[in-house]
Amino acid sequence: MTVRTVLITGGNRGIGYAIAEEFVRRGDRVAVTSRSGMGGPEGALTVAADVTDAASVDAAFTQVEAELGPVEVVVANAGITKDTLLMRMAEEDFTSVLNTNLTGAFRVVKRASKGMLKARFGRVVLISSVVGLFGGAGQVNYSSSKSALVGMARSLTRELGARGITANVVAPGFIETEMTAALPEAQQAEYKKSIPAGRFASADEVAKVVAWIASDDAAYVSGAVIPVDGGLGMGH
Ligand code: NDP
Repeated sequence: MTVRTVLITGGNRGIGYAIAEEFVRRGDRVAVTSRSGMGGPEGALTVAADVTDAASVDAAFTQVEAELGPVEVVVANAGITKDTLLMRMAEEDFTSVLNTNLTGAFRVVKRASKGMLKARFGRVVLISSVVGLFGGAGQVNYSSSKSALVGMARSLTRELGARGITANVVAPGFIETEMTAALPEAQQAEYKKSIPAGRFASADEVAKVVAWIASDDAAYVSGAVIPVDGGLGMGH
């Protein structure tokens, strides 16, 4: 396997942390971002970045390039939720989620594309959600931000595909995180009933798919939406 330089946004906890661990395990040069500049798995470089700020994203890339070389794989994972029903959703609840999840991914991908175009190689992985295509009550903001990543990956594929760059979406379903662990047992059981696999996934199961889509084995996969949801969103 070729050793790559990989940058994962929001790699200090949750799914991003598991993705970073998987790339480290595979022997890649791995950098993660967090807003504090702290955290991330052993073996990864942690740099500070806030994806709502293009200058901060630029500085993080510059530091990673200096320490690990040009970024060849970028995983836009940083994301937030601000769930509430439409009638109660303030415009700021909508725009702030879009600013982090969608415009944040744009800032990261735009900065990453500079080096990728020069190298005529790149892997862009956008972390969406089953909610992006399936929808979710109380998640008009989050769902809109996550479905838009599909258009982004497909446009990137058309624009950059001839330069050795692929762009794909990974759409996780319910993942065992602090968030899902905090749900009452009865609610967890109810959710599991609607998932054909009958269980939540570990963050590691998402990480392995991300690592595969970034690998040489997936060189001819681009513009795809890859669900990691135990069948929850089938057909969407
Ligand atoms: P967490 O809440 O555990 O972690 C979110 C990460 O995003 C943190 O590292 C956080 O950094 C970072 N982040 C948030 N806002 C910003 C910002 N403005 N700039 C830079 N970094 C930021 O989330 P998960 O691990 O659960 O989710 C990761 C991704 O997977 C998200 O995009 C989420 O939408 C998606 N997803 C999650 C699912 C789940 O079940 N958990 C299911 C489907 C999709 P900091 O520590 O600095 O706040």
